[in-house]
Amino acid sequence: MSKKHNFSAGPCILPQEVFQKSAEAILDFNGIGLSLLEISHRSKDFVAVMDEARAIVKRLMNLGDDYEVLYLGGGASLQFVMVPFNLMKAETGKAAYLDTGVWAAGAIKEAKKFGTVDVVGSSKEENYSFVPKDYTVGNQYDYFHCTSNNTIYGTQMKSFPKVDTLMVCDMSSDIFSRQLDFSQFDLIYAGAQKNMGPAGVTLVVVKKDILGKTGRDIPSILNYQSHIDKESMYNTPPVFPVYASLLTLQHLENNGGIAGAELRNEAKARLLYGEIDRNPLFETYCVDEDRSLMNVSFRLLDESKKEEFDNAWKAAGISGLNGHRSLGGYRASLYNALPIESVQVLVEVMKNLN
Ligand SMILES: *Cc1c(COP(=O)(O)O)cnc(C)c1O
Repeated sequence: MSKKHNFSAGPCILPQEVFQKSAEAILDFNGIGLSLLEISHRSKDFVAVMDEARAIVKRLMNLGDDYEVLYLGGGASLQFVMVPFNLMKAETGKAAYLDTGVWAAGAIKEAKKFGTVDVVGSSKEENYSFVPKDYTVGNQYDYFHCTSNNTIYGTQMKSFPKVDTLMVCDMSSDIFSRQLDFSQFDLIYAGAQKNMGPAGVTLVVVKKDILGKTGRDIPSILNYQSHIDKESMYNTPPVFPVYASLLTLQHLENNGGIAGAELRNEAKARLLYGEIDRNPLFETYCVDEDRSLMNVSFRLLDESKKEEFDNAWKAAGISGLNGHRSLGGYRASLYNALPIESVQVLVEVMKNLN
């Protein structure tokens, strides 16, 4: 069976080596005669996995000991709840949110259950076709929340505002895809299944000294501090997704780190946007300056070509190109593990459509 060109938005393509090594670990982990799936999470072999999975994130992000790395269950969606629960003051809580898409709106909806939410910028009325930039965030807020990459609309924050409060970012769909000064963030979270591993685990990177200041009685399982105190083993962690995420991050580290990934991602995006701009049959949904390097959402200008185009990309072995149900059209996700050869195949198909 030959491998498809996988443009899926998530769960998404991972390095082939990660599939191989994690399959081996399911059969026999580290040659110990047991499967990764049947050993105690407290065993020395798994504790070593968790320790390294936490350490490698700090190395890749160039962060110091003032940050903690956690691998939690519940998806990025649980972080929509844990962030306000842990950071918004009881009684007088107030947070600023940037509304740049469906996921940002989901985070806003949950935060409102904990206190006052001010939406300091929103592109909702323009169908999220750009990222608002004209706003300021003062120190009357407990924190500011933004979404670095809008997975559905194909927009991305190219820079981050200087805010006078804590900076929280949902990086689910572009984590480890580009170089950033990660120390400008106080809390970063990302569902693994978009760019760093399989579904079932969420990465949280949090600056320790921001916690414990809200006056709220937080249930232990939802309290970042409980997870920090137990080195991300407060309860049984999702062992397989943590291991596969570690393999993905090791693969990244061995291939030029984030800087290497960024160069490859820029080349892929340049190739595809170049064709969209050249080809009169296609256009993106969003403004040029906010185009995402990770998720390229685009449409056909002539709907009568739809069947021909769909048949052609499917025949070329391409998978996962349909747009999100809320937007329609097409979405090519160019996550770290997608080879440029797959983008070349897609561009050929687009060129041949006329
Ligand atoms: C996919 C996605 C989510 C939701 O992730 P789950 O792990 O399914 O809860 C949140 N934010 C962004 C930016 C996403 O792309």
